[in-house]
Amino acid sequence: MRAFACSVCRRLVPFEATRCLHCGAALAFDPERREIVGRRDAERRWPCANAMLIGCNWLAPAEGALCRACVLTGTRPADDDAEGIERLAGAERAKRRLLFDLLELGVPVPRERREGELSFALLSSAAAPVTTGHADGLVTMDLAEEDDAHRERLRLQLDEPYRTVLGHLRHEVGHHLWTVLVLRSGDDAALAEARALFGDERADYGAALDRHYAEGPPADWADRHVSAYATMHPAEDWAETTAHYLHVWDALQTAASFRVSVAGPEQVADPAGTAAGRIAPPVPGRFAEALEQWLPLSYALNALNRSLGHGDLYPFVLAPAVLDKLRFVDRMVAGAAA
Ligand SMILES: [Zn+2]
Ligand SMILES: [Zn+2]
Ligand SMILES: [Zn+2]
Repeated sequence: MRAFACSVCRRLVPFEATRCLHCGAALAFDPERREIVGRRDAERRWPCANAMLIGCNWLAPAEGALCRACVLTGTRPADDDAEGIERLAGAERAKRRLLFDLLELGVPVPRERREGELSFALLSSAAAPVTTGHADGLVTMDLAEEDDAHRERLRLQLDEPYRTVLGHLRHEVGHHLWTVLVLRSGDDAALAEARALFGDERADYGAALDRHYAEGPPADWADRHVSAYATMHPAEDWAETTAHYLHVWDALQTAASFRVSVAGPEQVADPAGTAAGRIAPPVPGRFAEALEQWLPLSYALNALNRSLGHGDLYPFVLAPAVLDKLRFVDRMVAGAAA
């Protein structure tokens, strides 16, 4: 995420800002310019129709219309479902961040809901069961994941080191990015390379699912996969890796925006410590360089988290085979952007 400034007083404001805490200016996010703008400067732009309901701060293309993030959600809790709407607000906040990442990367994002294109069903499982998943562009998520106690219970039950709403959305959107980045590239060599790296995504999914829940992941999964779940099926490996690419990309962009400098392990061991480097903004197609910055930054983030009594902020180890997969995702992102 980039660091944004109030358009009036130039103080730092968050991506979610609706008002500047310093000068009081009413602010909104303009998805076309990808900037926080003053509402007074943006006379011909309208607030999202969801602004009051869920606190969406994106501008809409016309009066009474939804913004380009909210318009992609086709199904959601009813306006009078107070708990559902509160959880929807949290999920939509995470979704706006994800869509911002895609726009920054140059990955195509549709402007309206269309068959086979990216869209969302954000549903409350309070009334009927909801299965989080992806099918033909449609991402479905159970809004119960917004409940911290529920999500943490599942995380422990499933023995996952990391479980967040943003992570769910990145994973499910990652499934759709298989179509957008690999299949639609029309590049047969790239498709063959993807299958060599991740496995053949046409493999029987039901059988893979049964095997995964009966036997669990292989003991040496971390040598080849970013997560234990990624071992389940090639399509899950791609989705987990693509979600991870978005995590790292966003975190590096944030670090670069805040002018973070980190000494790597070599510099920490070096008492002179003169080689400490400032994090540079990640550039699609040059992920190998980004990863060199990510490793020292993630060590530092984990160390900071432990100082505050928390576990690792970044509970992952990236084996060489995983780095190859991440670099492949990066190449496909750069290709789609070009
Ligand atoms: Zn201000
Ligand atoms: Zn909106
Ligand atoms: Zn999946």
